[in-house]
Amino acid sequence: MNKKEIQELQALLVQPQKIVLIPHKNADGDAIGSALALFHFFREQQHQVQVISPNNYPGFLKWMPGSKEVLFFDYQESLCIRLIQEANLIFLLDFNELSRVGEDMKRALKTYQGTFVMIDHHQQPSDVARYLYSDTKACATAELVYKFIDKMGALDSINADIATCLYTGILTDSGSFRFPATTPETHRIVANLMEKGAEHSSIYGKIFDNNTYDRMQLLGNALKNMQFLPDYKTAYMYIKEADKEKFNFQKGDTEGFVNYALALQGVVFAIIFIEDNEQSIIKISFRSKGSFSVNQFARKHFNGGGHDNAAGGRSSLTLQKTIKQFLTILPTYKQDLYASEEN
Ligand code: 5GP
Ligand code: MN
Repeated sequence: MNKKEIQELQALLVQPQKIVLIPHKNADGDAIGSALALFHFFREQQHQVQVISPNNYPGFLKWMPGSKEVLFFDYQESLCIRLIQEANLIFLLDFNELSRVGEDMKRALKTYQGTFVMIDHHQQPSDVARYLYSDTKACATAELVYKFIDKMGALDSINADIATCLYTGILTDSGSFRFPATTPETHRIVANLMEKGAEHSSIYGKIFDNNTYDRMQLLGNALKNMQFLPDYKTAYMYIKEADKEKFNFQKGDTEGFVNYALALQGVVFAIIFIEDNEQSIIKISFRSKGSFSVNQFARKHFNGGGHDNAAGGRSSLTLQKTIKQFLTILPTYKQDLYASEEN
C-alpha cells in the first residue's frame, strides 16, 4: 500500500462507512484476531462494522472480545449476503485468494461491486483488492493490522480490546514467538500491545492451557501412530474419522498437532493427514524447517498453499491412498530435504 493509497483510505474513513471484515474459512487466532481488532478499531471511529466469518471457529478463541458479535456466513447466509452487498468497504484478512472463504461465500464476494482491502502475509496475493497490504515476511496478519493502524495515524486509539485481539493473532501465528518470521519489530509491537492492555499470561492460558481431556487423548493417539522416515528427515501422523468420534472431536482440536512431528530430532518436514468425512476430503497440514518450501509442495501436489514453512492442502482420495501417494512423491525431494537445515 503506497502513500497515495493510504491517503485515499484515510479520506474515505473520514465519513462513517459500512465496513465488513472477513477472516478465512476455519479461522485461526490470527485471522479472527485481525478481524476483531479492526472491528473494535472501526467501531470506535463510529463506522458501522460487522465481522462475517465464513464458518464457525474453534471454541478456544471464543473468549476474544467481540467474539459474540461475529456472524457466520454458513448459518445466516441471506443476512450476510445483504450486509456484503451494502458494505462500502470489505476487508479480507489473513488470506490471499477468494477461494479461501469457501465456494458459497466466494460466490457472494465475486458479485460485490464495492471496495476490497486485503491485509495478508501469505505468498502470491491475488489481485482482487483495490487496496492491498501484503508482506510475506510478517509473522502474522495481526502484525500488519497493527502497522495499518499506524499508517492511518491512529496508534493512540488502540485500546485493551484491540491490543488483546492483535496480541492473540501474533502469539498464535508466530508459534508463541518461536518461528523464524518473529523479528525484533514483532517484539516491539508486542511490547506496545502489552502497554495498551494485552495481558500476555492470561491470553496464553486461555488458548494453550485450556485442553479438554478428549483432545489430549486424540493427541496421544496421533503421537502413537507417528511415522519417522529418517532418510527423508520426515515425520507424519494421521487422524481417522473413527478417532475423532472416539475422542469427541471438536473444531480446532487438531490445531498444532503437526508441530509435534516437527519437534522430532532430525526432522525438517512434518505432515498430518486428517480424515474429514463432512467435506469428503483428507485435510493435510505441512510444516518444515529451513529451506524446504511446503508452500510449493502443497501447491504442486495437494491443491493447497500457504507459507514456505507452514502450508495446507487436501486430497480427495482415501486416507490410505493419500498417504501412499505422498510416500510415492517424497523420494523426488530427497536432496531438497537433505539440504534443509534443522536448526
Ligand atoms: P494449516 O495447516 O494450519 O491449515 O495451514 C497452514 C497455513 O497454510 C496457514 O497459513 C493457512 O492459511 C495456509 N493454508 C492452509 N490450507 C491452504 C490452502 O488450501 N490453500 C492456501 N493457499 N493456503 C492454505
Ligand atoms: Mn496468519
